[in-house]
Amino acid sequence: MRNVVLLGPPGAGKGTIAVRVAKEAGLLHLSTGDVLRDEVARGTELGQRARTFMERGELVPDAVVLAMVQERVKGQQGVLLDGFPRTLAQAEGLAEFLPVHVVVNLAVAKDEVVRRLGSRRVCRACGAVYNVVTQRPRTEGLCDRCGGELRQRPDDTPEVVARRYEVYEKDSRPLVEHYARQGLLKAVDAARSPDQVAADVAKILRS
Ligand code: AMP
Repeated sequence: MRNVVLLGPPGAGKGTIAVRVAKEAGLLHLSTGDVLRDEVARGTELGQRARTFMERGELVPDAVVLAMVQERVKGQQGVLLDGFPRTLAQAEGLAEFLPVHVVVNLAVAKDEVVRRLGSRRVCRACGAVYNVVTQRPRTEGLCDRCGGELRQRPDDTPEVVARRYEVYEKDSRPLVEHYARQGLLKAVDAARSPDQVAADVAKILRS
């Protein structure tokens, strides 16, 4: 069983694609953003520490995220990591406890991700992701899957999106080169529809 890392800027579609491909590939989908949002919602100690970083579009400290991931992948056979690692230090820390076999980079231009994040909506209850322009729910404002209320993520406002993209450029983009040097990188054009992108990623995971 293989462990897979999904790279890409905010708004590249990491979460959407991960949900679509993980099950078929028999992988546990682990989104550090989802785990952190859940910790914040439950008001745990970790959530309280993470909250201010997330609200500002900054990264939660490496040691905190590494400990969180290490605990969740313990004993797992195949993992699809979504939104992690996000810094070289996280990649180096990860290598100490989990071998990475494939890295998929969802490549998409800045203009497109800014546009997507502005129209993204997420379900308050189950976290399902929609887009009011391209992936509309069947009933406006409500989740197709569970009927929950859709809302804009607090970090999808224009100011925070701008900061998240800067942080991506500075801290996370170097991971593309890092994993390319290790011969693990597969690039996918993520400017296309989720169906097309998911099909390509699924093919990589089967090969
Ligand atoms: P995401 O849902 O992946 O866009 O993540 C939302 C926010 O959670 C990010 O802007 C960070 O504040 C935090 N976060 C998620 N994953 C990480 C990570 N690997 N390292 C540090 N912070 C993270």
